Amino acid sequence: MDPSFSPPLHGQRHQFVIDFVNKNKPKKVADLGCGECTLLKRLKFHRVIELLVGVDIDGRKIKKNMHALAPISTDYLQPSFDQLRVELYQGSVTQRDARLRGFDLVASIELIEHLSLADVEPFSEVVFGYMAPVAVIISTPNSEFNPLFPGLTGFRHSDHKFEWTRAEFRSWALKVCLDYGYEVELTGVGRAPPHLQEAVGFCSQIGVFHRLGGRDSINHLCCDDGEGMFSYTLLYSINYPSLRDNNILRRVLVNEVLYSAEKLKQRWMERRMDERNEALPLSHAEGEGGWEVCIAVRNTDMEEESAACGEELKHPREPRQSGVAENRGGQCEEVFCINSTNEESCTSHRCVSVPLSVLWSFSPKISTLGGSLANLRHLLTDDPLIRLNQDRSAVLLSLPEQDQEEDDRDGYDLEDSGFAEDSRCSVSAEQEEDWEPDT
Ligand code: SAM
Repeated sequence: MDPSFSPPLHGQRHQFVIDFVNKNKPKKVADLGCGECTLLKRLKFHRVIELLVGVDIDGRKIKKNMHALAPISTDYLQPSFDQLRVELYQGSVTQRDARLRGFDLVASIELIEHLSLADVEPFSEVVFGYMAPVAVIISTPNSEFNPLFPGLTGFRHSDHKFEWTRAEFRSWALKVCLDYGYEVELTGVGRAPPHLQEAVGFCSQIGVFHRLGGRDSINHLCCDDGEGMFSYTLLYSINYPSLRDNNILRRVLVNEVLYSAEKLKQRWMERRMDERNEALPLSHAEGEGGWEVCIAVRNTDMEEESAACGEELKHPREPRQSGVAENRGGQCEEVFCINSTNEESCTSHRCVSVPLSVLWSFSPKISTLGGSLANLRHLLTDDPLIRLNQDRSAVLLSLPEQDQEEDDRDGYDLEDSGFAEDSRCSVSAEQEEDWEPDT
């Protein structure tokens, strides 16, 4: 019916709602007469919205389209802190349902003209009196525009029960405002040629209603109760993955910690390989963006420890406990250590220990998700994929067997190094007591 509009008229109507959402940032949005869910499918990308609800009397239409409102793979792979819940109901807008109360925005696009004139009054009462959202957007055909459609006789659609002139729409809108405490701005989309614009108005006329008193006002004009009244049938509901869900936060954080720790471990191993080849005593590994990693290789004799650090190494320092490697000479903090354990229960002989404080500095994602170093430790504790050292200040990663053999050949035997406690792959209270700090 609107071949001459570009973009198509239905797209312009939906864009009008989206522009309103972008400007006013409503958190709870409902689309009454959502039909094929076309508007909802666009609105779900506007993550300022936390609850998105569609209602239509035609349940088959909803069932046919509802799966397009499911999260896509990116929503699972890269969840954000935004929250979104989508609910779709089969029901009539002439009936009350308590789940539709308290919304910030209710849109009803090209619906009202499908109601019988007798149902317009109940519709008004349900939407403005009972649901009483902060804002309402209603669009409906403007019959004064119809002569511009070549060959059109009667209404634009066979299911339309009426089509209002601008004056009729205004009259209904003003009465609604008086009855339920709203103010309205009348506008539209779909322009006529310039010389006809004043005479015929917009193709789709739109009323934007704002509740008087705004968000904080209470609608005293309505209603006897209605609380707990559920007349709609829930056909679909889904919560989008959000980092505010602790399980999802933990999953993403653990993945990032494992990924970053492996990356650091690889970097350290490459450097160590170079050292072996070049017999260098000391290492610097330069990371992306100028981030420098301080590498300390612990040998049997603490006095022989070799360490270096980059100027940019600025990670929050963990309170040190006895047995944990000390910052030597006030210059450099231990970043990695290679250790051994003689405990039978140890699943791996040697581990690379990556302090949480290093991971914190290395990955902005870890510091953002962790919130604080203490919380990071808390979130990682007891996760089946993460091995922490005894005082839970570092993540332990197994060394590949080949490297362990090379370490053995090279005489890396750290049992007496004073760092053993810090890096045991598995721990128990007895083991902790067995350990004697170097003096
Ligand atoms: N709003 C959608 C859009 O802009 O694409 C669809 C508009 S379609 C022309 C009108 C929709 O209103 C239909 O999906 C129809 O099933 C629905 N509808 C008609 N009467 C209804 C009622 N009493 N309650 C809820 N939905 C109704």
